[in-house]
Amino acid sequence: MRVVVPPFQRFQAVLASNVYLLDGGKGDRWLIDCGHWSERYQLLTELKRTGLAPRELTGVLLTHRHSDHAGNAEYLQREFGLKIYAHRADAEVLGGAKERRALARRGHFYERALGLLENRWPSRVQVDGALEDGQAIASLEVHWIPGHTEGSVFFRHAGTGCLLTGDTLLTPRPPLSLLFDVVPPYPAYSIDLRQAWEAIDRFHAQGFAYEHVLAGHGAPLVGNARQRVLRALQGRVRRRF
Ligand SMILES: [Zn+2]
Repeated sequence: MRVVVPPFQRFQAVLASNVYLLDGGKGDRWLIDCGHWSERYQLLTELKRTGLAPRELTGVLLTHRHSDHAGNAEYLQREFGLKIYAHRADAEVLGGAKERRALARRGHFYERALGLLENRWPSRVQVDGALEDGQAIASLEVHWIPGHTEGSVFFRHAGTGCLLTGDTLLTPRPPLSLLFDVVPPYPAYSIDLRQAWEAIDRFHAQGFAYEHVLAGHGAPLVGNARQRVLRALQGRVRRRF
């Protein structure tokens, strides 16, 4: 584990995706995403290192429904009674009430393989609470940014300027990207690329401030993040849909 920006810690031993702990004290301890089921041991080990038992957590907030982020949600709910939250649109898919839009089979081999895994073994859980755009939960604001999935969200922690972006905005992690600070919505992994771009634009047009990006993959972008994100988004050939 590593403290990124208090009260956020990152579980570094969990590799498939980023898991963050928001530790705001008793009654305000949340996991933001919970990793792939294959890394359950690493997840529990990292939690132990923080000195917390699973039952001391308040709940799990999912940035989106993909199995590398929601893969332990059902387990944590069943074993420890943790409350699971996701945006309504992803909650409906996770619970089976709505049909899941599969990832398109495109991109290079690695991308297609990951897409295939997700399509073949999606995560399932009946969430305890469905989140809506504009809602506050714990010390976080919920911003609906659909496109990567139906119910992808940003969580903004206004107090520290942290923005948790899930997979909608990624930060570099070689070999994914050596050249850019920010990886914008990724065509092979988005169910609707246009929608993702529009949602990101809308979010920025509303003027929400943030200083740091804690993305679903890659190292955290600490300091001056909003400017770096906007610069990276503008600098890309972006309208390729
Ligand atoms: Zn994803």
